[in-house]
Amino acid sequence: MITRYDSLPLGGDWVAPATRTTIRVVSPNTEEPIGEVPAAGPADADAAVAAARAAFPAWRDRAPAERAAHLRRFADLIEARKDRFAEVVSSQNGMPMAVASQLEALYPALLLRYYAGLAAAQQEENRQGLLGGTIKVLREPVGVVAAIVPWNFPQTLGFMKIAPALAAGCTVVVKPSPETVLDAFLLARTAIDAGLPPGVLTIVPGGRDLGAHLVAHPGVDKVAFTGSTAAGREIAQTCGRLLRPVTLELGGKSAAIVLDDAELDLGTIGGDLFVATLANNGQTCFLGTRVLAPRHRYAEVVDVFTEFARSMSVGDSLDPGTQIGPLVTARQRDRVEACIARGRAEGARVTTGGGRPAGRDRGWFVEPTVFADVGNEAAVSREEIFGPVLTVIPYRDEEEAVRMANDSDYGLGGTVWSADADRALRVARRVRTGTIGINRYMPDPAAPFGGVKASGIGRELGPEGMAGYQQLKSVYC
Ligand code: NAD
Repeated sequence: MITRYDSLPLGGDWVAPATRTTIRVVSPNTEEPIGEVPAAGPADADAAVAAARAAFPAWRDRAPAERAAHLRRFADLIEARKDRFAEVVSSQNGMPMAVASQLEALYPALLLRYYAGLAAAQQEENRQGLLGGTIKVLREPVGVVAAIVPWNFPQTLGFMKIAPALAAGCTVVVKPSPETVLDAFLLARTAIDAGLPPGVLTIVPGGRDLGAHLVAHPGVDKVAFTGSTAAGREIAQTCGRLLRPVTLELGGKSAAIVLDDAELDLGTIGGDLFVATLANNGQTCFLGTRVLAPRHRYAEVVDVFTEFARSMSVGDSLDPGTQIGPLVTARQRDRVEACIARGRAEGARVTTGGGRPAGRDRGWFVEPTVFADVGNEAAVSREEIFGPVLTVIPYRDEEEAVRMANDSDYGLGGTVWSADADRALRVARRVRTGTIGINRYMPDPAAPFGGVKASGIGRELGPEGMAGYQQLKSVYC
């Protein structure tokens, strides 16, 4: 069945698109078309920004408790449709339903309720001035936000921007990726059904050029971007020129440091290891895809990861038993296969996988793959592959493990695996990264999330995530 939309959800209403271009969504499971929506052109984006600008003063001036009530109603309706959201995401980007129903279905409502709570909290603070008098420090919404979102976790990453921005009193124009526009239309319909005031949240479906148009748009006050480091650099240049605030959540190549006392029983740690290293078919920015293993336990660690990757059930993402689904597009599969070929050419040993799964002649599948006998300088150890590919690298001692973990262009996630939590924490403190887990990894709405180095600038989630949508104003009373 093909899902079709003929109009665009602009400014709280469904309107005819200004252009006649369409975006076609193709199933990564079957390679068959599953959806068609109109693409927004620059004129549509202009209309969306104008609607957001028009809606801003009234949304800003509402009592925070009123905004919070809107966010909670929105959360209720998303929750009522959570299974549909999970299914639509999974059908477009190949995310296994087991992952989609835990993350894409639940995280948006969780975020809306969390930030609804923060919206209602105190927005101003009185300080005693050192030169006398009182200073009122106000937190004011930054204005109209352009939120540019990738395809890998379209709802979760979208709401990491939408929820704090709306709670802060900003209005938002979201540009989803062309690969995942169907869930964006479902989101737009849900926002309208939930009674969000027109223009407060608008969706403009389109590709890179539309994103660039929004980033440079004179009616936009802040850009929030999640995506590749290459696109992030371009966006940063535009925002630098315009002196426009920007948050950048970019790529990663995080280290999973296995300390020499780690207990690697897959029966115990398999679930946590999956989330930390392979979730969403390896198409997750924070995954610890560089496994650093102590040399004297190297063969054992390679065996454990080989068995782990081999044990994955690969299949149609909509099948509830699937752990690894297809990659999002043929282009992404080609990219991942080229990375695997480069790893082989560099002399790394493939211990499992390395090809396409047998018996699947449709869909963009790649077998879970493990590379061994490889150093930290190899391309497969340095470049973000964004597929189900892990590299196991030996280290001599803890000192070298920390040095290797930090010897990366990126710094987004990471894990330390150890039987001794205090020791693991000591190591975690020394890793140059924005987030890191001990024997587990899962970004939590309450804690700031983001990267250092080429992984980005700024933080989402937590109260810090909302601060990114606020300007401070000091009033000397
Ligand atoms: P991408 O950079 O190609 O696209 C991301 C979004 O930006 C899309 O909506 C795209 O249309 C738009 N875009 C691309 N170039 C643009 C430009 N110059 N100006 C404005 N908009 C532009 O990334 P992708 O392939 O969709 O996503 C995968 C990447 O995202 C990976 O590198 C991954 O690590 C990263 N990612 C990072 C995080 C994080 O939180 N740090 C989370 C998820 C994904």
